[in-house]
Amino acid sequence: MKKNAITDTAYIHRRHIAPGKGNYPLESPIYHSVKYTFDDLEHMENMFGQDNDEYFIYSRIASPTVRELEVLLAQVMGEEDALCSASGMGSITALTLGLLEKGDSIAIPLHSYGTSRSYAKKVLSKFGIESVFLSWPDLANLAAIKQKNPNLKMLLIESITNPMVRVPDLQQIIGECQKIGIIAAVDATFASLSPAKLASPDLYVVSLTKYACGHGDTLGGAVMGNKKLIAQIRATQLLLGPSLDPYSAQLILRGLETYPLRRARMVDSAQKIALFLEGKPQIKTLWYPGLPSHPECQIAREQLWEPGAMLAMTLKKNNRSQIQAFIKKLKLFKLTASLGSTKSLIAPVEVFYTRDLNAAEKSACDIEPGTMRISVGLEDTDDLIADLKGALEIL
Ligand SMILES: *Cc1c(COP(=O)(O)O)cnc(C)c1O
Repeated sequence: MKKNAITDTAYIHRRHIAPGKGNYPLESPIYHSVKYTFDDLEHMENMFGQDNDEYFIYSRIASPTVRELEVLLAQVMGEEDALCSASGMGSITALTLGLLEKGDSIAIPLHSYGTSRSYAKKVLSKFGIESVFLSWPDLANLAAIKQKNPNLKMLLIESITNPMVRVPDLQQIIGECQKIGIIAAVDATFASLSPAKLASPDLYVVSLTKYACGHGDTLGGAVMGNKKLIAQIRATQLLLGPSLDPYSAQLILRGLETYPLRRARMVDSAQKIALFLEGKPQIKTLWYPGLPSHPECQIAREQLWEPGAMLAMTLKKNNRSQIQAFIKKLKLFKLTASLGSTKSLIAPVEVFYTRDLNAAEKSACDIEPGTMRISVGLEDTDDLIADLKGALEIL
């Protein structure tokens, strides 16, 4: 016999506690609820028909915590709206399947994140969406590419490329996309949350996993653009399912509070590290968009707000044991994929990012066994330089 005649129902239907009017939490609560209820049927039906992104039914479609992140991202990228996904690849999936149809094709530079290329080759092809892979010089001839591929509907291009940190002339390229009537989708993961200075693409996509979250502990992605395109992509994502969960959204929101500080410090360190590496006898080529030696230094200066915190370099010693010794000697730069963490990272490019490329394609992208990609973290800059110095000395 229970005291107070309490039934099991009491455990389920508790009283919700929320601070009252005039008593606000300084930090937003995490809305983990998957479902949102309505007072009555009429209220619900009215909500259904509304062009309002801030009512909620089911969190695969939208939820308040994720929405808070979307509104912030749209604002910082200077776009009308944003849609978050469970990862950067989730965003690329939603954006391509949301906007492309069977029979369309998509153009992707060879200088792109390997997983985006593989997704196009292995997944989009299954739905009758063909890919056109572009060499770097092809980017200056998009009208000719469109003429050869009349069904070309979209260009997916990185504003600083992964992994070789090349910088396309977005002003010229986006202008050309508008002329020939194809959607320009710019992956701004390396350039991070800064819009292109001189050009406005139809859409931005970013992996929030990297600089936005910034602590290497959460996956997320976002697409930013005008309301109409984002609504179309959202309508597809809610059918596909790669929605961002509110816990990850909260971690990303927390990470973003320090984003400007982290980013500025990382860029500053990367510039100093690039200056240290420049001209070292052990290095055959160094790529950093902030150095005059970079092939697109001028474009970077004109079109990016800052040159980023990623570097690529090819060591003169190209054999496996020397590369291994170099990486092993590094204590602060950790051997792993990904980027944009508080910790500095190093990745041999050929091993991590070229599985789908043949020898000619690798060579066209200047990728050799000794090519390394470096993500500069938040450690003391002098410590990072000393670490690289020690490792270069053994070569
Ligand atoms: C990491 C990355 C992605 C994919 O993001 P995930 O969050 O890992 O799915 C997409 N584009 C670029 C340029 C990336 O570096």
